Order: sequence, then C-alpha cells, then structure tokens
Amino acid sequence: METRKPYLSVVIPIFNEEDNIMELSGRLKKVMTEMGHTYEIIFIDDGSMDNSLDILKQFQAVTSGITIIEFNRNYGQHAAVFAGFERSSGEIVVTLDADLQNPPEEIPKLVKKAEEGFEVIATVRMKRKDSIFRRCASYIINRITAKITGVKLKDYGCMLRAYRKNIVKLMCSSKEISTFIPVLATSYAKHMAEIEVKHDSRNEGESKYSIMRLISLQFDLMTSFSIWPLRMLMFLGLAVSLAGVGFGIFLFAMRIIMGVEWAVNGVFTLFAVLFFFVGTQFLAFGLLGEYIGRIYSEVRRRPRFVIESIYSRKEEISY
Ligand code: UDP
Ligand code: MG
Repeated sequence: METRKPYLSVVIPIFNEEDNIMELSGRLKKVMTEMGHTYEIIFIDDGSMDNSLDILKQFQAVTSGITIIEFNRNYGQHAAVFAGFERSSGEIVVTLDADLQNPPEEIPKLVKKAEEGFEVIATVRMKRKDSIFRRCASYIINRITAKITGVKLKDYGCMLRAYRKNIVKLMCSSKEISTFIPVLATSYAKHMAEIEVKHDSRNEGESKYSIMRLISLQFDLMTSFSIWPLRMLMFLGLAVSLAGVGFGIFLFAMRIIMGVEWAVNGVFTLFAVLFFFVGTQFLAFGLLGEYIGRIYSEVRRRPRFVIESIYSRKEEISY
C-alpha cells in the first residue's frame, strides 16, 4: 500500500488524561474532517498510570491516521512533544494540550496563518482560565523570557501552536535534553506570527505541574537560552563588593570621628552586612549550580526519552 505523507500532523502529549481523551478525540476529529486536509494525529503516552493508553488504543481502533507512542515512564511534556515531532511527517505540525484548555476548534486559524507563509505560529491565550497564581507567574516569566531571548512575544507558555516542517526538523536536530519548545522554535524561525486563541479551564483532572515542576521548567527555560543571568551575577557581585568597600571606609571614618563608643554599637550593622554578603553568595552558588547541574545532565548524553512501543495502523493518513 502506498503511504503518502499527511499535510497536517497534530501532536498531543498525554499524562493521566483518561477522562479527557474521548471528548478531545471527538472534537479534534470533527475539526480535522471539516478542514478537509490529510492529517495524522500523534498521541504520546508519557508514562500514564491510569487507563489513558487503553482509551487511546480504543480510539485508534475505530479511526485511521492515529499513532500512539508509549514511553516507558514519565519524561515530561516537552520530551513527549519531541517524540511526536520526530515521528511527524506533516507539512504543518500543530501541538496542543490534552486537557481541552486549548480548544481544537482553533486549529484552522493556526493552519491558515501558516499557509500565509509564517513558520512559527505562536498564540496568546485570551481570557486565560488559570489560577491567579499561575497567571502572575506567567506574566513575570513572559517578560523575562522576552528580555533574555530578544524575541518579543506576549505569551510563551501556550502549547497550542503550529510549526512548519523545516522548523520541526531543526528542533529535532537540537540535542539538548532540558529545553523549552516554544522558545526553541523562536530561535530558528524567521517569520513568526502571534495570534489570539480561546482558553478554557481544564476539562477533567488536575494540572500536572506542581510548584516545584514549574520552577524546574522555568530554570530550563532560563539556563538553556541565555548566560545573561550569569553575567548579572557578576555585576551583582561587583556592586556588592564595591558597596562593601565603601561601607568599610565609612565605618572606619566614623570610628575616628565618633570614637570607640559608636563602633561598638556598629557591631550589629556588621552583622547585617555579613548576612547580606552571605546571602548574595548563596544566591550566586545556587544559580551556578543550576547551570552545572544542566551541563552534567547534557554531557551524560542520555536519551531524552525511551519509547516502549509505537502503535500505528497500516494506512498512515486520514481523510
Ligand atoms: N503532560 C505530559 N507529561 C507531563 C505533564 C503534562 O505529557 O509530565 C501533558 C498533559 O497531559 C497535558 C499537557 O501536557 O496534555 C499540559 O499539562 P497540564 O494541563 O497539566 O499543564 P497546565 O495546563 O497546568 O500548564
Ligand atoms: Mg492544562
């Protein structure tokens, strides 16, 4: 049988989403059929502990053009999307979350934009339905990221995105393990567009990101795209030591002018200064540690993920 390449690839990471898969698949299939392009849908089961994989297989049994990649354990959303990228063969590759926070009905808009000649179509979540804590954190992170990467986008966190095939290939050829896909894409693209999409609250289940995971993801983002924080660290160190020297001179002068009495009282000021220095040092060590930790995991060159098995039917694409 002839296997032709689909025009669209949709890549969806799945981690314990048993209650969302059926609704997602139904809505997605409807949208894809209406668009009338050939397509494939690639689900990556990122080590789910629930029935997600079985439900995916059920969906695959009644639908053509579905590929399921099963990981042997949980490697995280970005590793999962990478596995999908490597397997994808569409001209335009769309990523989206499985929890229906990204409505599949928005896909045609992205595709249309890609057809206008843009290589990366980023999205801004309108009326974002997340907790106030997540929104505030995102606001700060988006600003920092825009500064660090020099790419002015409003929203880096939304995973409902479209990429041209050449960008996906470039991303796959970058071998670093800890990376953040939306930002990585911007570093390869010449023509980028940012459009507004709807955002819903999570359909079923809970967010898979705890505060620690969010922090870790943020460090991935920061350390893998810039050494700017390290440079800031150096300036901060320099400023603090200059301030220290200035303060020393000031204390010495005051000791001579005001006498011994004053200096004794100053002991506590010195404590404050000491704490400040020690604090800054720990901050610096911590940041260095983040970089070194990542260098260590990169040099080990372990695979980004391990695929347990791939399920796909003979006819590769769907109409
Ligand atoms: N996800 C994944 N592996 C993980 C964590 C999340 O594949 O380790 C998937 C998850 O199933 C969902 C998407 O990534 O499809 C986004 O996750 P979630 O909705 O929990 O993130 P949030 O919307 O809270 O940022
Ligand atoms: Mg979500």
